[in-house]
Amino acid sequence: MPAPKAHLLLIGSELTEGRLLDKNGQFLAKKLSDLGFYVEQIKLLPDNPDLLRKSFQESLHTPVSVLFSSGGLGHTSDDLTAELWAEVLGDSLHFSEELYEQLRARLEERGVKALPYLERYARIPQKGEALPNPVGLSPALYWEVGERAICALPGPPSELQALWEQVQPRLIQKFKPVPPLQHTFRTTGLTESRVSALLESWETTLPPGLQLAYNPSWEGVSLHLRAPAEIGEASFQAAVASLRDRLKPYLYAEGNTPLTAAILAELKRRGETLAIAESCTGGHIVAAVVDIPGASEVLVGGIVAYANSAKESLLGVPPAVLREKGAVSEETARAMAEGVQRRFGATWGVATTGIAGPTGGSAEKPIGTVWIGVAGPSGTWAKKYIFPGGRTAVIGRATATALSLFWQAVRGVLSFA
Ligand code: ATP
Ligand code: MG
Repeated sequence: MPAPKAHLLLIGSELTEGRLLDKNGQFLAKKLSDLGFYVEQIKLLPDNPDLLRKSFQESLHTPVSVLFSSGGLGHTSDDLTAELWAEVLGDSLHFSEELYEQLRARLEERGVKALPYLERYARIPQKGEALPNPVGLSPALYWEVGERAICALPGPPSELQALWEQVQPRLIQKFKPVPPLQHTFRTTGLTESRVSALLESWETTLPPGLQLAYNPSWEGVSLHLRAPAEIGEASFQAAVASLRDRLKPYLYAEGNTPLTAAILAELKRRGETLAIAESCTGGHIVAAVVDIPGASEVLVGGIVAYANSAKESLLGVPPAVLREKGAVSEETARAMAEGVQRRFGATWGVATTGIAGPTGGSAEKPIGTVWIGVAGPSGTWAKKYIFPGGRTAVIGRATATALSLFWQAVRGVLSFA
């Protein structure tokens, strides 16, 4: 049985004019795909009634099981979705005293008086349902018409996500989708092309229907294996195991774990600690580590040492090194990593020093030059990178690469000549 198809219509001129980055399509696409639907199309549409009417009508003439819209269910003049769905479905919306009372009571609890606009939120489709919104005013509208389900969800992502909880069981009951088999591997320390080269021969052995997707980020490359349920659990697990085997030295997690969480878990397991000295990353590495709950069990502290004087006085970088080699040098990166490790009495010290730009580059040390140092129980390593992109990209890449390098050092993958 092929997966039932879904189309998503995301409504709002703020989306089509580039003022807002969509969240709802991403949320719905993930939920629907994980349930076993095939999301065939995601369309952004402006608040234009003629265009919306045409798109709704067209979508009702395509062989799709599930149609979702997001946005335009409010009470302002640009909110047209409810009327237009009712119109194209040959339905009408009627006022519900009961729903109105619920909404009025909810507002009253918060000390807000009901205004005339509230009536607009209390409309129920004659041939469908209004699913009550636990976090906002606008209900979701839900229709089942023949072999199809149509659902209009409000635009604010928190409301859409809360309402999904009521939509999902209805979709499961109507379509009985079969969830695909999926597995994610997270690697670091290899570029996408090196991962691809590593897997070249393995990919030719994949059973038909099994898909491998590469998702590169600054932290590393994630690989997502996905197959329809018909392929069978045993043959899917065999592919997962053989992929795991190939990726092993570079694998920091399976599933959703971020690199920082994998690092913290590994250090915690070993009873080891970490201190961080940052120049060009200005605290981004510490912030990424602190984002993970339980960071306090591993992270002792961090120092942002931007000026040479701070590198000297706070981290003990020798003045002669700064004078002769410069702040952006192998020697400084090593001295910073060792200095912060010593100062905090930590098992490991990580350091960054570089030129994020847009000024300060030279022929010898162009913008984007970053030295990353790692001091550990068996020695100190440092490596130079020249990162492309503007200031934000250089800082982001340096942060991610420092974490990657550190993970590789902890796991003994690093071998600096
Ligand atoms: P409201 O009752 O708040 O007006 P609505 O259903 O009419 O809800 P819209 O007016 O289309 O929704 O959007 C309201 C707000 O929700 C937008 O200003 C935006 O902040 C957010 N929003 C809408 N669509 C999206 C989207 N696809 N991704 C992210 N945010 C969105
Ligand atoms: Mg609105």
